[in-house]
Amino acid sequence: METVRVRVPAKVNVQLAVGGVRPDGFHDLANVFLAVGLYDEVTATPADTLRVTCAGPDAAAVPLDRTNLAARAALALAGRYGIEPDVHLHIDKDIPVAGGMAGGSADAAGALVACDALWGTDAPRDELLAICAELGSDVPFSLVGGAALGTGRGERLRPLDVGGTFHWVFAVADGGLSTPAVYGEFDRLTAGLRVPGPAASRDLLDALAKGDATALAATVSNDLQPAALSLFPPLTGTLATGRDAGALAALVSGSGPTTAFLAADADAAAEIARALMASGTCRTARATTAPAPGATVV
Ligand code: ATP
Repeated sequence: METVRVRVPAKVNVQLAVGGVRPDGFHDLANVFLAVGLYDEVTATPADTLRVTCAGPDAAAVPLDRTNLAARAALALAGRYGIEPDVHLHIDKDIPVAGGMAGGSADAAGALVACDALWGTDAPRDELLAICAELGSDVPFSLVGGAALGTGRGERLRPLDVGGTFHWVFAVADGGLSTPAVYGEFDRLTAGLRVPGPAASRDLLDALAKGDATALAATVSNDLQPAALSLFPPLTGTLATGRDAGALAALVSGSGPTTAFLAADADAAAEIARALMASGTCRTARATTAPAPGATVV
């Protein structure tokens, strides 16, 4: 095979319940992932040595060395199968970088699927998922897409039913937030408080299963939101702008600083996106739908 191209979705966390910090430094989570229709594409082509290139508006912020999550995925697969990781990975990046939408994780899952096809390793799904979990807590979900409940540090996944299409708008902020910094701020803000064990909301899972946007809007939550707002105060204005424009719900996506707005339908989403763009409270706004499929060879 000469070249393999894989499309991988971004995610929003419709629930992100964060428990106290564990002895290993991670937090226990109840993390309801929903894959959304913003995609990176990873293309794998045979090469003399491992090489990463990236194109797109945020390309300058993406490392091109072996710390790139796509490169790490290729190295992990090659290591298991005793293959030389001689591949050119090109990332067409449309997912905001350091935006709380798991863009790096998407590239890791995409590179893994692309190299598995290019090299003919044909690894079993469970093995691909195990490699994903080693690469990062959000990577397994990028592979499977759809909707899923993540427990543990988010990497133990249970697929969830979604009974319809949800309309979303994502406001991309000027700048990024480091996920470890946001967890650090969460720890600071909750120091001395009793942090309850995280649990998925039954009402939220029902709303997803029914495809009911109004019910989903009433149940979305993100325990990292106060920490993200504390580190990036202008997001409060972005959230208010989307709410005023008719969003059923407005929340920070994961660790931020991307903000997510649930809309009643496609027309409402277009209006929210227009209002966000006009407000100057974000760099750009993108309307899309969910759920989206996981990493797919195209
Ligand atoms: P998450 O939602 O999973 O917490 P994020 O969307 O906030 O992640 P990413 O876009 O995944 O953040 O990037 C976080 C950091 O990871 C970047 O600042 C960058 O230095 C590094 N990184 C490594 N590989 C990649 C990649 N392929 N794409 C983007 N960033 C990458």
